[in-house]
This record gives sequence, structure tokens and C-alpha cells, in this order.
Amino acid sequence: MQRRGGVRIVRAAYLRRMDAELERVARWIRGAGRVVYVVGAGLSVPSGIRAYRSGPDAIWDELVTSWGTREKLEAEPAAWWKIFWLGAHADLGREDLAPNDGHRALARLVARDARDLVITQNVDGLHRRAGHLETQLVEIHGRHDRFVCTAHARCAGGREPIDRVDLSRLEEGVIPRCAHCRAPMRPLVLLFDELYESHPAFQARRARRALDEADVVVFVGTSFSVGITSLAIRSARFTHARVVNVNVERAPFEDVTELTGSAADVLPRLARELDHPSPDRDTVPPASP
Ligand SMILES: [Zn+2]
Repeated sequence: MQRRGGVRIVRAAYLRRMDAELERVARWIRGAGRVVYVVGAGLSVPSGIRAYRSGPDAIWDELVTSWGTREKLEAEPAAWWKIFWLGAHADLGREDLAPNDGHRALARLVARDARDLVITQNVDGLHRRAGHLETQLVEIHGRHDRFVCTAHARCAGGREPIDRVDLSRLEEGVIPRCAHCRAPMRPLVLLFDELYESHPAFQARRARRALDEADVVVFVGTSFSVGITSLAIRSARFTHARVVNVNVERAPFEDVTELTGSAADVLPRLARELDHPSPDRDTVPPASP
């Protein structure tokens, strides 16, 4: 009994601290000229998508690092499509895949102010399906459901991304080819040996400008191991923007306000706090033992 009471006290203290932090972050967001949300795979984990780099089901392994490159795609397109694309992205084609409460709350949060922006590393398209406005969304790593000619720089007909290619015979080694020049098609996603500037669809310049202008940068479900997060942190340090981390794990650096928990739990609470500010926390009595 005593142990259970102890757990209750710890839980109540955690919730009070979390409420106070949520309130503080909501105040910053309300007062900010521009808020930028930098999103990683952790947001889509509650939807059933495996994280790339952390957690027990992470697919960040040799398959991804050795095969997820343009060099491999150009050298062995059939093997690349079969081994890397089908191997690491099979989840994305699942029909039961759906946005979670975190995606929906984030769509509400960003819609509060037309200047705010979501920069997502996720290629799963769940932001758009949760009702995010395209004008407030930068898919910095691309989209799994857009394809482009690998020779697009010199292929007159292949510059524009298209949204349908025949992937039904990948297992047999039949890859999609450009209707204009017959070069292999590729998904419009950023590969590990490519720069954000490699295709205008990644909107790198827009992302950088938004980060430079942000008063508050909210990281959501990211492991801080890819380029855009380093860029965002550097920019926030330079401009003295407030930094918030919504994740099951703490950020690996100081001066961050932590909202620890699953994004699917924390973001709806943050959105509620912004819609209905809490009364003064000091008037709430502490939980009795
Ligand atoms: Zn082409």
C-alpha cells in the first residue's frame, strides 16, 4: 500500500511540473513572432511507423546506411529499389496507416499563426493527412509518394515530380522508368549522401529562413542526429530563440525546456493549454499523500 502511495505522490509531482512547463511554453508561443516546429520520426511512432535511429524497433542499421545513398541508386537501381526502398519503407504503403493525436494537435498548433512553420523529417505524408496546411509545411526529407526522373537535371520531361509509378514488379527487378528518357525513376526523398539543396522540393532555403526568424523552436520526436536538427540548434543559439523538446528522451544538450513524453500525449495537452489557458497554478493545492 505504502509503495503505491509513493508512486502516486511521484506521479502527482511529475504532472504538476509538466503542467507548469506546458503553461510556460504556451506563454512563449502566444508571445512569439514566429514559432518553428522541427519534427522527427518519434511523432509517427504512435502511428505504427518504426523510428529510423532510436528505440528497439529502429531500422537505422547497415541496410539504411549502406544502401540509402544516391551512389547505390545509380550503381544498382534494381537492387536499390528492392533492398533499400522495399526493405526500409514497406510500412509507408500500409493501408491502415493513419495520423495520430500528435499530428492532429500539431496541425492545430501551427494553424494558430500563418507565420509559424512545421519542418518535418518524416516522408510518410501523415502531416498532410492530419489537415496540415501545405503552406505551413516543409517536408525537408521529401515524400515517399512522389517520384522523379534520376536524370531530371538534363531530362526535359522529367523535371516535375509525379505521384504515381508502377511498383508492382520491384521484386522481379522491374523498376519504374521515366516516360521521357527511360532513366530509372526514384522516390523524391533525401538520400544519405545528398544535400537539402539537391532538389527544390525539399524547400531548404525556406526552412533556413524560418529558423533564422524563429523566437521559439519546438523539437518534436527527433533524435538530434541529422542535419536539420543541428542547423536548427545552431540557429536558435545564435538568435537566442527559446528551445523546447517534446520527446520520450531528453535532448543531449543544456538550455532546453523538456516536455518529456510521447508527442501523441504532449502535443494535445499543449494545444489545449493554448486554447484554454490554465488558471494560476499557485492556487492549485499540492496533492495529499
Ligand atoms: Zn527522364
